[in-house]
Amino acid sequence: MATAEFELIGRYFASLGGGDRIALGIGDDAAVFDVPEGEQCVVSTDTQVEYVHFFPETLPEDIAYRAVAAAASDLAAMGASPLGMTLALTLPEADELWLHGFSQGLAAAVRDLALPLMGGDTTQGPLTITITVHGSVPRDAAVTRGGARPGDRLCVTGTLGDAAAALALQRGELSGDRLPEAEDVEWLLSRFNRPIARFEWLSFLRAHGSAAIDISDGLLADAEHIAAASGVALTIDSTAIPLSDALRRAAPSEARLFEWALGGGDDYELLCTVPAGCQIPDGLAVIGEVVVGQGVQIDRPTSGAGGYAHFN
Ligand code: ADP
Ligand code: MG
Repeated sequence: MATAEFELIGRYFASLGGGDRIALGIGDDAAVFDVPEGEQCVVSTDTQVEYVHFFPETLPEDIAYRAVAAAASDLAAMGASPLGMTLALTLPEADELWLHGFSQGLAAAVRDLALPLMGGDTTQGPLTITITVHGSVPRDAAVTRGGARPGDRLCVTGTLGDAAAALALQRGELSGDRLPEAEDVEWLLSRFNRPIARFEWLSFLRAHGSAAIDISDGLLADAEHIAAASGVALTIDSTAIPLSDALRRAAPSEARLFEWALGGGDDYELLCTVPAGCQIPDGLAVIGEVVVGQGVQIDRPTSGAGGYAHFN
C-alpha cells in the first residue's frame, strides 16, 4: 500500500482496535479473532452512501457513529453479542479535518458498542462507508425473523418515527410557525445521527424472543418481513406505538405523525415477538399480536408509510 494511505490508517484508525478477543488486528493481511467457545459467528454488513443515507452537511463524527450503530443494530436483532468490526472507507480526498472528526465518532462507537476496529480497506472515490460487524451467539440460539407464532405478542423498544422527523427537518420540510422548539429539534436530530443499537435487550431476546428484526425500513415494512419469514399475520394497534413527546410536538398533523412512526426507517429500534406467557419488562411496548394469516394489519390508513426502498 502507498505510504500516505498507511500513515492515514496509522494516524486515525490503528488505535481503535485491540481487546483480548483480537489476536491480530489492523496491520496484517487479515484480522484474527476469537469466537467464544461453543458459539457461532454472526456477520452483517451495512453501507452508507453520501446523498443516499446522509446529507453532505452531516458531521463526520455523526456519519461514523451512525454507520457503526446501523450495522451493529443487525447484530442486536439477531441476539448476537458484539465481537469486532471492519471498515471499508471510500473517500473523495484525504481531508485531515474530516478524518479527525470521523475517527472521533468511530472511537465513540467502538466504546459504546464494544466493537473494536479489526481492519478495513481505504480507497478513493465518492464518500461511502461500509461497516462489517462480527458477533456471536450460543449455537443455534440466533433470533431470526422466522420464529413468530400465532398467539405471540408483537413488541417494540424505544420510540418510533423520531429519525423520520429528523430527516424531514433536515430536508427543510417543516417550516414557518410549525417549526419545533430548538430543544426538540436537537433531540430528534440526535435520534437520527446517534442511533442506539439495542444490545441492552440481548439477554431478554435470547431468552424470550421468538422472532426479531431491527427497524431500518419502517415499522410496517419491517413487520412485513417478520410476517413473511414466519408465515403468519401481524396485527398492530396504532394507539399502542410508543411516540416521543418531541415527535408529538414536532408533527404538524396526526397523519404526518403516523407517517413518520409507521413508515420512517432509521430508528434502529427492535421489533420482536414474544410468547404469550412471558412477562413484558419496562421499556418494551406491546403494539400488537401474531395471528394466523399473512401480512400486516393496522387500525388506520397507511398511505405514505410504505418504507424506504432503493431502485424504486
Ligand atoms: P491489503 O492490501 O493486504 O488488503 P491494505 O493495504 O488494504 O491491506 O490494509 C493494510 C492494513 O490496514 C490491513 O490490516 C487493513 O485491515 C487495515 N486497514 C486498511 N484500511 C482500513 C480502515 N479504513 N480502517 C481500519 N483498518 C484499515
Ligand atoms: Mg494483503
